[in-house]
Amino acid sequence: MESEEKQSIVIFPFMAQGHIIPFLALALRIEQKGYLINYVSTPLNIKKLHSLIPPNSSIRLVEIPFNSSDYGLPPDAENNDDLPYNLVLRLLEAAQDLEPSFRKILAEELINGQRKKPVCIIGDFFFGWLADVAHDFGIFHALFSGAGGFGLACYHSLWLNLPHRNTNDEKGEFLLPDFPEAGKFHVTQLSPSLLLADGTDPSSIFQRKCLPTWVNSDGFLFNTVEELDRIGLTYFRRKLGIPVWAIGPILLPVDERAKLSKTSGITPQECLEWLDSKSPDSVLYISFGSQTTISASQMMQLAKALDSGDTNFIWVIRPPIGFDPSMEFIAEDWLPEGFVQRVREEKKGLVVEKWAPQLEILSHKSVAAFLCHCGWNSVLESLINGVALIGWPIAGDQFYNAKLLAEWVGVCVEVARGISFEVGHEDIRYKIELVMGDNEKGKEMRRKAQEVKGLIEQTVVEKDGVKGDSLKAMEEFFSAALQMQEEETQLMEQSN
Ligand code: UDP
Repeated sequence: MESEEKQSIVIFPFMAQGHIIPFLALALRIEQKGYLINYVSTPLNIKKLHSLIPPNSSIRLVEIPFNSSDYGLPPDAENNDDLPYNLVLRLLEAAQDLEPSFRKILAEELINGQRKKPVCIIGDFFFGWLADVAHDFGIFHALFSGAGGFGLACYHSLWLNLPHRNTNDEKGEFLLPDFPEAGKFHVTQLSPSLLLADGTDPSSIFQRKCLPTWVNSDGFLFNTVEELDRIGLTYFRRKLGIPVWAIGPILLPVDERAKLSKTSGITPQECLEWLDSKSPDSVLYISFGSQTTISASQMMQLAKALDSGDTNFIWVIRPPIGFDPSMEFIAEDWLPEGFVQRVREEKKGLVVEKWAPQLEILSHKSVAAFLCHCGWNSVLESLINGVALIGWPIAGDQFYNAKLLAEWVGVCVEVARGISFEVGHEDIRYKIELVMGDNEKGKEMRRKAQEVKGLIEQTVVEKDGVKGDSLKAMEEFFSAALQMQEEETQLMEQSN
């Protein structure tokens, strides 16, 4: 399609790296289908996004005005990741005020002068109001979640069934009334705001306003795989009564990922050479995602576990909780004396400061397991490579991702939960050896992880004319959006 003939799609994520990046990955995927993408964000986020757009892409970055100081946020704070925890809610609330500006941009830039209205607006689940705006203009609206179905379903149900702090069970366990099939939850799986929430606090007020708007959308797209995540997806089909499409896994291409890396402690080449020197399935990769970190004492216990065991490992280290993640730091300061040098000399471990080429590591044949915080991207990256997990969820949906993987998928064992969890090095070592060792449970988990890898591969291919589930879901989404566009065009022609 020539550029001027292309149909357009509008993409609008909430201003947080964990949303902006999956939406960009989605935009790049949809662009391949021949659509022109208008990707909307605030000025400073757009500035950062420029460098992430591949040179051969025609994605248009569209600025929506936003002034953080109008909301008592620090100047230039336009991204969740630039804010301390106590100001995140304020950014979420401020983002709700983007509605009038979005209407203006839609009318003046994204529709006016175009031969056809956008086929669809794909918006963030924190922008529930977008569905009404889209419909006012006769445009299809879909929500997109970079989080998994089960994780988001737990989040949705937990916020709508408050409070949780009075759980009567002496073990601290409870069920969710509208999501009993999710099984038992434990109070340690609640973020501080959920633990305190009673329906009258600011977080509850925000969530109770936002979550019910999801029902207004024409469909919900998830970066997940149907077969893997059916419990959560079925929950949304039941609760919202709208189509739910699992279109994943959708990951940022390797070249764009490389641009994301903060100061990296290692080059991909160095990492791969080190991995090449190890036998297949002998290495544990350890990372807690792009922002999360553990406490200083947990770091020490993890190091002791690695020091005392025989397992090969790559460990991406950042300053422990309570220390500025962007500060200059020396990993050695937080580890047992001589640890870094010892493991290097023993050729057992590689300690990497701040950032490592995760996808390249996980796809290496020497890697057998991934000890991680269970962020959804890390989970998908592990599973597409058939790598079993050792879960150490820290916040948000990570608790529920770990639960899904451990209780339903059978590819994960949880070792700790959150930053206050007192985990001992003996237990960490036991879990590592359980998942990686020559024992029935470990073998079964690793077999299962390989099976899941195969299952995911099938969802994104077409074989003998039969399309995989994720391809089919993407097609269904497009045909629903195009049908609405067609109907709207006919209505307009009739009224003229
Ligand atoms: N990542 C990476 N190297 C690192 C840490 C993280 O490449 O050292 C990437 C990782 O591959 C994933 C993303 O950053 O794509 C982290 O996303 P996830 O959803 O797992 O966790 P979050 O950072 O959002 O908590």
